[in-house]
Amino acid sequence: MPTVKAIAAHSATSPLGPHTIARRPVGPDDVEFEILYCGVCHSDLHTARNEWSAWPTVYPCVPGHEIVGRVTNVGAKVTRFRVGDLAATGCMVDSCGTCPSCRDGLEQYCDTGGTVFTYNAPDPKGTAPVTYGGYAKSIVVKEHFVLRISDKLPLPGVAPLLCAGITLYSPLKHWGAGKGKKVGIVGLGGLGHMGVKFAHAFGAHTVLFTTSPGKVADGKRLGADEVVVSRDAAAMAKHARSFDLIVNTVAVSHDLDQFVALLKRDATLVLVGAPEHAHPSPNVFNLIFARRSIAGSGIGGIPETQEMLDYCAANGITSDVELIQPGQINTAYERMLKGDVKYRFVIDMKAL
Ligand code: NAP
Ligand code: ZN
Repeated sequence: MPTVKAIAAHSATSPLGPHTIARRPVGPDDVEFEILYCGVCHSDLHTARNEWSAWPTVYPCVPGHEIVGRVTNVGAKVTRFRVGDLAATGCMVDSCGTCPSCRDGLEQYCDTGGTVFTYNAPDPKGTAPVTYGGYAKSIVVKEHFVLRISDKLPLPGVAPLLCAGITLYSPLKHWGAGKGKKVGIVGLGGLGHMGVKFAHAFGAHTVLFTTSPGKVADGKRLGADEVVVSRDAAAMAKHARSFDLIVNTVAVSHDLDQFVALLKRDATLVLVGAPEHAHPSPNVFNLIFARRSIAGSGIGGIPETQEMLDYCAANGITSDVELIQPGQINTAYERMLKGDVKYRFVIDMKAL
Protein backbone atom coordinates (compact mmCIF):
# COMPACT_ATOMS: atom_id res chain seq x y z
CA MET A 1 0.00 0.00 0.00
CA PRO A 2 1.55 3.38 -0.98
CA THR A 3 2.16 5.61 2.06
CA VAL A 4 2.28 9.40 2.04
CA LYS A 5 3.11 12.17 4.50
CA ALA A 6 0.16 13.97 6.04
CA ILE A 7 -0.89 16.29 8.87
CA ALA A 8 -3.28 14.72 11.37
CA ALA A 9 -5.18 15.39 14.56
CA HIS A 10 -4.75 12.52 17.04
CA SER A 11 -7.42 13.69 19.49
CA ALA A 12 -9.93 16.52 19.91
CA THR A 13 -7.57 18.42 22.19
CA SER A 14 -4.06 17.78 20.85
CA PRO A 15 -2.47 20.00 18.20
CA LEU A 16 -2.26 18.67 14.64
CA GLY A 17 1.11 17.20 13.68
CA PRO A 18 3.00 15.11 11.10
CA HIS A 19 1.63 11.68 10.31
CA THR A 20 1.90 8.97 7.63
CA ILE A 21 -1.17 7.48 5.91
CA ALA A 22 -1.80 4.80 3.29
CA ARG A 23 -3.58 5.61 0.02
CA ARG A 24 -5.24 2.89 -2.01
CA PRO A 25 -3.42 1.72 -5.17
CA VAL A 26 -4.74 3.46 -8.31
CA GLY A 27 -7.75 1.46 -9.61
CA PRO A 28 -9.08 1.49 -13.20
CA ASP A 29 -11.38 4.52 -12.53
CA ASP A 30 -8.96 6.41 -10.28
CA VAL A 31 -6.88 9.54 -10.66
CA GLU A 32 -3.88 10.04 -8.37
CA PHE A 33 -2.55 13.53 -7.92
CA GLU A 34 0.17 15.27 -5.98
CA ILE A 35 -1.43 17.88 -3.71
CA LEU A 36 0.13 21.31 -4.24
CA TYR A 37 -2.26 23.43 -2.16
CA CYS A 38 -5.05 22.69 0.31
CA GLY A 39 -7.42 25.28 1.75
CA VAL A 40 -8.30 25.39 5.46
CA CYS A 41 -12.08 25.29 6.00
CA HIS A 42 -13.83 25.87 9.32
CA SER A 43 -15.29 22.36 8.83
CA ASP A 44 -11.71 21.04 9.17
CA LEU A 45 -11.54 22.62 12.62
CA HIS A 46 -15.03 21.41 13.64
CA THR A 47 -13.96 17.87 12.63
CA ALA A 48 -10.42 17.92 14.08
CA ARG A 49 -11.96 18.97 17.42
CA ASN A 50 -14.90 16.52 17.23
CA GLU A 51 -17.48 19.33 17.43
CA TRP A 52 -20.21 17.66 15.34
CA SER A 53 -21.94 15.14 17.62
CA ALA A 54 -23.94 13.72 14.70
CA TRP A 55 -20.72 12.84 12.91
CA PRO A 56 -18.10 11.78 15.50
CA THR A 57 -14.46 12.10 14.52
CA VAL A 58 -12.37 8.95 14.08
CA TYR A 59 -8.70 9.56 14.98
CA PRO A 60 -6.19 9.97 13.54
CA CYS A 61 -8.06 12.52 11.42
CA VAL A 62 -6.55 14.11 8.28
CA PRO A 63 -8.75 17.10 7.31
CA GLY A 64 -8.71 19.12 4.08
CA HIS A 65 -11.27 19.28 1.25
CA GLU A 66 -10.10 22.19 -0.87
CA ILE A 67 -7.50 20.28 -2.83
CA VAL A 68 -5.61 21.23 -6.00
CA GLY A 69 -2.62 19.52 -7.57
CA ARG A 70 -1.06 17.78 -10.54
CA VAL A 71 -1.92 14.31 -11.84
CA THR A 72 0.76 11.67 -11.27
CA ASN A 73 -1.07 8.48 -12.31
CA VAL A 74 -4.37 7.47 -13.93
CA GLY A 75 -6.25 4.16 -14.12
CA ALA A 76 -6.87 2.30 -17.40
CA LYS A 77 -10.48 3.51 -17.75
CA VAL A 78 -9.78 7.20 -17.03
CA THR A 79 -10.57 9.40 -20.04
CA ARG A 80 -10.59 13.03 -18.84
CA PHE A 81 -7.17 13.30 -17.16
CA ARG A 82 -3.58 12.61 -18.14
CA VAL A 83 -0.39 12.62 -16.12
CA GLY A 84 0.76 16.23 -15.73
CA ASP A 85 -2.75 17.81 -15.87
CA LEU A 86 -3.97 20.07 -13.10
CA ALA A 87 -6.74 18.49 -11.02
CA ALA A 88 -8.87 19.28 -7.99
CA THR A 89 -11.15 17.61 -5.47
CA GLY A 90 -13.61 19.10 -3.02
CA CYS A 91 -15.72 17.73 -0.19
CA MET A 92 -16.70 14.33 -1.59
CA VAL A 93 -14.94 11.42 -3.28
CA ASP A 94 -17.76 8.95 -4.01
CA SER A 95 -21.53 8.33 -3.93
CA CYS A 96 -23.93 5.55 -5.01
CA GLY A 97 -24.22 7.01 -8.53
CA THR A 98 -27.66 5.54 -9.24
CA CYS A 99 -30.23 7.19 -6.90
CA PRO A 100 -32.36 10.14 -8.12
CA SER A 101 -30.07 12.74 -6.45
CA CYS A 102 -26.89 11.22 -7.90
CA ARG A 103 -28.55 10.99 -11.33
CA ASP A 104 -29.44 14.70 -10.99
CA GLY A 105 -25.78 15.52 -10.34
CA LEU A 106 -26.46 16.26 -6.68
CA GLU A 107 -24.12 13.63 -5.25
CA GLN A 108 -23.86 15.51 -1.94
CA TYR A 109 -27.52 14.64 -1.29
CA CYS A 110 -27.21 10.93 -2.28
CA ASP A 111 -30.57 9.40 -1.30
CA THR A 112 -28.99 6.18 -0.09
CA GLY A 113 -26.70 8.03 2.31
CA GLY A 114 -23.90 6.94 0.00
CA THR A 115 -22.00 10.22 -0.21
CA VAL A 116 -18.41 9.53 0.82
CA PHE A 117 -17.00 12.78 2.14
CA THR A 118 -13.32 13.52 1.60
CA TYR A 119 -12.36 13.03 5.24
CA ASN A 120 -13.74 11.28 8.32
CA ALA A 121 -16.20 9.23 6.26
CA PRO A 122 -16.43 5.42 6.12
CA ASP A 123 -15.08 4.41 2.72
CA PRO A 124 -15.89 1.00 1.30
CA LYS A 125 -12.88 1.24 -1.03
CA GLY A 126 -10.54 2.67 1.59
CA THR A 127 -7.46 1.37 3.31
CA ALA A 128 -8.46 2.80 6.70
CA PRO A 129 -11.62 3.10 8.85
CA VAL A 130 -12.36 6.53 7.36
CA THR A 131 -11.26 8.71 4.45
CA TYR A 132 -8.24 10.98 4.82
CA GLY A 133 -8.35 14.47 3.32
CA GLY A 134 -6.05 16.91 1.63
CA TYR A 135 -3.56 17.81 4.37
CA ALA A 136 -1.30 15.27 2.65
CA LYS A 137 1.20 14.87 -0.17
CA SER A 138 -1.14 13.05 -2.54
CA ILE A 139 -4.63 11.59 -2.95
CA VAL A 140 -6.37 8.91 -5.05
CA VAL A 141 -9.90 9.82 -6.18
CA LYS A 142 -12.49 8.23 -8.50
CA GLU A 143 -12.43 10.19 -11.77
CA HIS A 144 -16.06 11.34 -11.48
CA PHE A 145 -15.12 13.32 -8.36
CA VAL A 146 -12.03 14.98 -9.89
CA LEU A 147 -12.55 18.50 -11.25
CA ARG A 148 -10.77 20.35 -14.04
CA ILE A 149 -9.17 23.69 -13.12
CA SER A 150 -7.72 26.49 -15.22
CA ASP A 151 -3.98 27.11 -15.45
CA LYS A 152 -4.78 30.82 -15.97
CA LEU A 153 -5.72 31.46 -12.33
CA PRO A 154 -3.29 31.49 -9.35
CA LEU A 155 -3.53 27.95 -7.92
CA PRO A 156 -3.59 28.85 -4.20
CA GLY A 157 -6.63 31.06 -4.83
CA VAL A 158 -8.40 28.27 -6.73
CA ALA A 159 -8.18 25.73 -3.86
CA PRO A 160 -10.88 27.39 -1.67
CA LEU A 161 -13.32 27.38 -4.59
CA LEU A 162 -13.68 23.61 -4.05
CA CYS A 163 -15.60 24.13 -0.81
CA ALA A 164 -16.03 27.80 0.15
CA GLY A 165 -16.71 28.73 -3.49
CA ILE A 166 -19.26 26.07 -4.39
CA THR A 167 -21.02 26.29 -1.00
CA LEU A 168 -22.01 29.89 -1.82
CA TYR A 169 -22.32 29.58 -5.61
CA SER A 170 -24.90 26.79 -5.31
CA PRO A 171 -27.49 28.49 -3.05
CA LEU A 172 -27.04 31.85 -4.80
CA LYS A 173 -27.89 30.12 -8.11
CA HIS A 174 -30.64 27.92 -6.65
CA TRP A 175 -32.46 30.85 -5.02
CA GLY A 176 -31.98 33.13 -8.03
CA ALA A 177 -29.49 35.78 -6.89
CA GLY A 178 -29.05 38.22 -9.75
CA LYS A 179 -30.04 41.59 -11.21
CA GLY A 180 -32.90 43.28 -9.40
CA LYS A 181 -32.46 41.13 -6.27
CA LYS A 182 -31.25 42.29 -2.86
CA VAL A 183 -29.00 39.59 -1.40
CA GLY A 184 -27.38 39.44 2.04
CA ILE A 185 -24.30 37.47 3.03
CA VAL A 186 -23.76 36.95 6.77
CA GLY A 187 -20.14 36.61 8.00
CA LEU A 188 -16.98 37.62 6.15
CA GLY A 189 -14.85 34.49 6.47
CA GLY A 190 -13.84 31.89 3.91
CA LEU A 191 -17.38 31.13 2.75
CA GLY A 192 -18.72 34.65 3.20
CA HIS A 193 -16.08 36.39 1.11
CA MET A 194 -16.85 34.04 -1.81
CA GLY A 195 -20.55 34.80 -1.31
CA VAL A 196 -19.90 38.53 -1.60
CA LYS A 197 -17.84 37.99 -4.78
CA PHE A 198 -20.44 35.73 -6.44
CA ALA A 199 -23.53 37.77 -5.46
CA HIS A 200 -21.81 40.88 -6.84
CA ALA A 201 -20.72 39.05 -10.03
CA PHE A 202 -24.30 37.80 -10.59
CA GLY A 203 -25.49 41.44 -10.49
CA ALA A 204 -27.42 41.35 -7.20
CA HIS A 205 -27.49 44.33 -4.83
CA THR A 206 -25.13 42.76 -2.32
CA VAL A 207 -25.15 43.52 1.40
CA LEU A 208 -22.57 42.07 3.78
CA PHE A 209 -23.45 41.54 7.45
CA THR A 210 -20.41 41.35 9.69
CA THR A 211 -19.74 41.40 13.42
CA SER A 212 -16.31 42.95 12.72
CA PRO A 213 -16.28 46.73 12.12
CA GLY A 214 -12.70 46.30 10.85
CA LYS A 215 -13.97 44.33 7.83
CA VAL A 216 -16.26 47.06 6.41
CA ALA A 217 -13.72 48.41 3.89
CA ASP A 218 -12.73 44.90 2.75
CA GLY A 219 -16.40 43.97 2.34
CA LYS A 220 -16.82 46.84 -0.13
CA ARG A 221 -13.55 46.03 -1.92
CA LEU A 222 -14.74 42.43 -2.36
CA GLY A 223 -17.96 43.60 -4.01
CA ALA A 224 -20.54 44.51 -1.34
CA ASP A 225 -22.72 47.52 -2.21
CA GLU A 226 -23.42 48.01 1.49
CA VAL A 227 -21.90 46.63 4.69
CA VAL A 228 -23.93 46.43 7.91
CA VAL A 229 -22.36 45.76 11.31
CA SER A 230 -24.90 43.24 12.61
CA ARG A 231 -24.40 44.19 16.28
CA ASP A 232 -25.82 47.68 15.44
CA ALA A 233 -29.59 47.25 15.93
CA ALA A 234 -30.45 50.61 14.34
CA ALA A 235 -28.42 49.82 11.21
CA MET A 236 -30.13 46.42 10.99
CA ALA A 237 -33.63 47.94 11.41
CA LYS A 238 -33.10 50.11 8.32
CA HIS A 239 -33.11 46.92 6.20
CA ALA A 240 -36.32 45.41 7.65
CA ARG A 241 -38.46 43.43 5.16
CA SER A 242 -36.22 44.24 2.19
CA PHE A 243 -34.18 41.15 1.23
CA ASP A 244 -34.98 38.55 -1.43
CA LEU A 245 -32.34 36.18 -0.05
CA ILE A 246 -29.87 36.01 2.84
CA VAL A 247 -27.14 33.34 3.03
CA ASN A 248 -25.76 32.83 6.53
CA THR A 249 -22.20 31.43 6.85
CA VAL A 250 -21.63 32.00 10.57
CA ALA A 251 -19.82 29.09 12.30
CA VAL A 252 -21.33 29.60 15.78
CA SER A 253 -24.83 29.39 17.25
CA HIS A 254 -26.64 32.76 17.22
CA ASP A 255 -30.04 34.49 17.03
CA LEU A 256 -31.50 33.99 13.54
CA ASP A 257 -34.55 36.24 14.12
CA GLN A 258 -32.53 39.38 13.48
CA PHE A 259 -31.95 38.16 9.91
CA VAL A 260 -35.40 36.64 9.31
CA ALA A 261 -36.90 40.07 10.10
CA LEU A 262 -34.94 41.52 7.16
CA LEU A 263 -36.56 39.18 4.60
CA LYS A 264 -39.35 40.33 2.28
CA ARG A 265 -42.56 38.32 2.04
CA ASP A 266 -41.80 34.83 0.59
CA ALA A 267 -38.04 35.32 0.90
CA THR A 268 -35.52 32.81 2.28
CA LEU A 269 -32.73 32.71 4.84
CA VAL A 270 -30.35 29.93 3.78
CA LEU A 271 -28.10 28.42 6.46
CA VAL A 272 -24.77 27.09 5.28
CA GLY A 273 -22.81 27.62 8.51
CA ALA A 274 -22.74 24.39 10.55
CA PRO A 275 -22.08 25.35 14.18
CA GLU A 276 -21.25 22.92 16.99
CA HIS A 277 -24.34 23.96 19.01
CA ALA A 278 -27.87 24.46 17.62
CA HIS A 279 -29.21 27.96 16.93
CA PRO A 280 -31.97 29.14 19.30
CA SER A 281 -35.35 28.17 17.85
CA PRO A 282 -36.56 30.94 15.52
CA ASN A 283 -39.70 32.97 16.29
CA VAL A 284 -42.46 31.29 14.25
CA PHE A 285 -44.53 34.49 13.91
CA ASN A 286 -41.64 36.04 12.00
CA LEU A 287 -42.07 33.21 9.51
CA ILE A 288 -45.87 32.93 9.51
CA PHE A 289 -46.69 36.58 8.91
CA ALA A 290 -44.60 36.95 5.78
CA ARG A 291 -44.52 33.33 4.52
CA ARG A 292 -40.77 33.38 4.97
CA SER A 293 -38.53 30.30 4.85
CA ILE A 294 -35.40 29.11 6.61
CA ALA A 295 -33.52 26.59 4.47
CA GLY A 296 -30.20 24.79 4.36
CA SER A 297 -27.75 24.05 1.56
CA GLY A 298 -24.77 21.69 1.32
CA ILE A 299 -21.78 22.36 -0.96
CA GLY A 300 -22.82 21.60 -4.58
CA GLY A 301 -22.90 18.61 -6.91
CA ILE A 302 -20.06 17.68 -9.24
CA PRO A 303 -21.57 19.20 -12.44
CA GLU A 304 -22.32 22.48 -10.65
CA THR A 305 -18.83 22.52 -9.07
CA GLN A 306 -17.31 22.21 -12.56
CA GLU A 307 -19.67 24.96 -13.79
CA MET A 308 -18.53 27.20 -10.91
CA LEU A 309 -14.83 26.53 -11.63
CA ASP A 310 -15.37 27.35 -15.32
CA TYR A 311 -17.30 30.50 -14.37
CA CYS A 312 -14.42 31.58 -12.10
CA ALA A 313 -11.87 30.94 -14.86
CA ALA A 314 -13.94 32.98 -17.35
CA ASN A 315 -14.48 35.85 -14.88
CA GLY A 316 -11.11 35.89 -13.09
CA ILE A 317 -12.63 34.99 -9.70
CA THR A 318 -10.46 33.39 -6.99
CA SER A 319 -10.34 33.39 -3.21
CA ASP A 320 -8.29 35.96 -1.28
CA VAL A 321 -5.78 33.74 0.49
CA GLU A 322 -3.03 33.79 3.08
CA LEU A 323 -0.52 31.08 2.22
CA ILE A 324 0.82 29.14 5.22
CA GLN A 325 3.39 26.40 5.77
CA PRO A 326 2.22 23.00 7.10
CA GLY A 327 3.74 23.76 10.53
CA GLN A 328 1.49 26.82 10.91
CA ILE A 329 -1.81 24.92 10.87
CA ASN A 330 -2.47 25.15 14.63
CA THR A 331 -1.91 28.92 14.66
CA ALA A 332 -4.21 29.18 11.64
CA TYR A 333 -6.99 27.36 13.54
CA GLU A 334 -6.63 29.75 16.52
CA ARG A 335 -6.80 32.76 14.20
CA MET A 336 -9.84 31.31 12.40
CA LEU A 337 -11.64 31.05 15.74
CA LYS A 338 -11.03 34.77 16.28
CA GLY A 339 -12.40 35.67 12.82
CA ASP A 340 -8.86 36.73 11.89
CA VAL A 341 -8.59 35.25 8.37
CA LYS A 342 -8.22 37.30 5.19
CA TYR A 343 -10.02 35.40 3.88
CA ARG A 344 -8.85 31.80 3.58
CA PHE A 345 -5.71 30.07 4.83
CA VAL A 346 -4.19 27.80 2.20
CA ILE A 347 -1.43 25.31 3.05
CA ASP A 348 1.55 25.16 0.69
CA MET A 349 1.84 21.37 0.55
CA LYS A 350 5.14 21.37 -1.30
CA ALA A 351 6.77 22.12 2.04
CA LEU A 352 5.35 19.01 3.75
P1 NAP B 1 -14.73 31.17 8.86
O1 NAP B 1 -13.76 31.48 7.79
O2 NAP B 1 -14.25 30.97 10.25
O3 NAP B 1 -15.86 32.33 8.80
C1 NAP B 1 -16.95 32.37 9.69
C2 NAP B 1 -17.33 33.83 9.93
O4 NAP B 1 -18.43 33.86 10.81
C3 NAP B 1 -16.28 34.67 10.61
O5 NAP B 1 -15.29 35.16 9.76
C4 NAP B 1 -17.12 35.79 11.21
O6 NAP B 1 -17.37 36.80 10.24
C5 NAP B 1 -18.41 35.10 11.52
N1 NAP B 1 -18.46 34.86 12.97
C6 NAP B 1 -17.56 34.21 13.72
N2 NAP B 1 -17.91 34.24 15.02
C7 NAP B 1 -19.07 34.89 15.06
C8 NAP B 1 -19.95 35.23 16.11
N3 NAP B 1 -19.69 34.89 17.38
N4 NAP B 1 -21.08 35.88 15.79
C9 NAP B 1 -21.34 36.21 14.51
N5 NAP B 1 -20.51 35.93 13.49
C10 NAP B 1 -19.41 35.27 13.77
O7 NAP B 1 -15.54 29.83 8.51
P2 NAP B 1 -15.91 29.20 7.08
O8 NAP B 1 -14.82 28.28 6.67
O9 NAP B 1 -16.36 30.28 6.19
O10 NAP B 1 -17.13 28.25 7.48
C11 NAP B 1 -18.30 28.80 8.04
C12 NAP B 1 -19.25 27.70 8.47
O11 NAP B 1 -19.76 27.02 7.32
C13 NAP B 1 -18.61 26.60 9.34
O12 NAP B 1 -19.54 26.22 10.34
C14 NAP B 1 -18.40 25.46 8.36
O13 NAP B 1 -18.35 24.20 8.98
C15 NAP B 1 -19.62 25.61 7.50
N6 NAP B 1 -19.54 25.00 6.16
C16 NAP B 1 -20.70 24.53 5.62
C17 NAP B 1 -20.71 24.02 4.33
C18 NAP B 1 -21.98 23.54 3.71
O14 NAP B 1 -21.93 22.80 2.73
N7 NAP B 1 -23.13 23.96 4.21
C19 NAP B 1 -19.51 23.96 3.61
C20 NAP B 1 -18.35 24.46 4.20
C21 NAP B 1 -18.38 24.99 5.47
P3 NAP B 1 -17.47 38.35 10.66
O15 NAP B 1 -16.15 38.66 11.33
O16 NAP B 1 -17.64 39.01 9.35
O17 NAP B 1 -18.64 38.48 11.57
ZN1 ZN C 1 -15.28 23.19 3.71
